[in-house]
Amino acid sequence: MLPFKLVYSDDYYLPIGPHVFPAEKYKRIHDRLLVSRIAEPADFVTPHPATDQDVLLVHTPQYIEKLKTGTLSPREQMELEVPFSPALVKAFWLAAGGSIRAADHALSNGIGISIGGGFHHAFPDHGEGFCMIHDVAIAIRRMQRDGKIRYAMAVDCDVHQGNGTAAIFGGTRTTSEPLPSVPASALTPSSPEKSPTSLAKIQTHSHTGDVFTISLHQENNYPAWKPPSSIDINLPDEIGDDDYLAWLDNALSSGLRQFDPELLCYIAGADPYREDQLGGLSLTIDGLKKRDELVFRVAKARGIPVMVTLAGGYARNVEDTVTIHRNTVIAATEVFTK
Ligand SMILES: [Zn+2]
Repeated sequence: MLPFKLVYSDDYYLPIGPHVFPAEKYKRIHDRLLVSRIAEPADFVTPHPATDQDVLLVHTPQYIEKLKTGTLSPREQMELEVPFSPALVKAFWLAAGGSIRAADHALSNGIGISIGGGFHHAFPDHGEGFCMIHDVAIAIRRMQRDGKIRYAMAVDCDVHQGNGTAAIFGGTRTTSEPLPSVPASALTPSSPEKSPTSLAKIQTHSHTGDVFTISLHQENNYPAWKPPSSIDINLPDEIGDDDYLAWLDNALSSGLRQFDPELLCYIAGADPYREDQLGGLSLTIDGLKKRDELVFRVAKARGIPVMVTLAGGYARNVEDTVTIHRNTVIAATEVFTK
């Protein structure tokens, strides 16, 4: 029995036909977790779809109306980059409900993982980059509306910048202090101790809103326009495990020095992987698991509940994507069992 719940439904499947986004990955992860006996059926809980009221906490009524009535313009459909259908709308509402459920489990149990979600490219008034609505933002706003939290932090480790997250939670900002020299994981043993040797471009902003956003991503990749996160780490192409982990450590340390979240939303994209078709970083499967462990260790050491969503993953071999996401569950088990 896992020390936390996995939120999952077969209906997470996105009905988008043959596509670079492997919509079947959710079921494959679920099945792999069971077959390998990492999880048992009782570890899974089923999400309910988000309500329209939930979605309205983030998205404009006009955009929701277009989705509900199938009246996106051709340009809006093109930006979404997945074929629109009413069934797809249903799947995204369920993903948002799954993230709400995972956030609830995080707050009551320390960690909650949805085997889905992480649609960080959705904006209040439009969707793009395979993301129709922003499930993580909806979950944060719902927790706030219910009075369960005031402050949240998004830690986005997908290879693509969290432009929707930045746009939704962005406030008025001014450039602020540089990253510190003391890593967050100095709190815990067996963490990377090296300073990054690569030349990433770091943009930090003094923070004014109630959600602090950190994005570690490949600079030379989608989205071309990157609205400012609270901390953006613009990584150079081909960066490997050690440098990536050192940058992540620095970003977490800096963020948690500036901001004291009551919920950490970890967007655990599998696409920084070196075999990814839509990514240009060079992380190994082992390095990605260390990344997960680092986020979980830091959150646990500071007593911050963490909710996890999966986001992207486009490995040439879909089984690698499944392995990377499965390893996130294993990493959580190792950190949160102790
Ligand atoms: Zn991505």
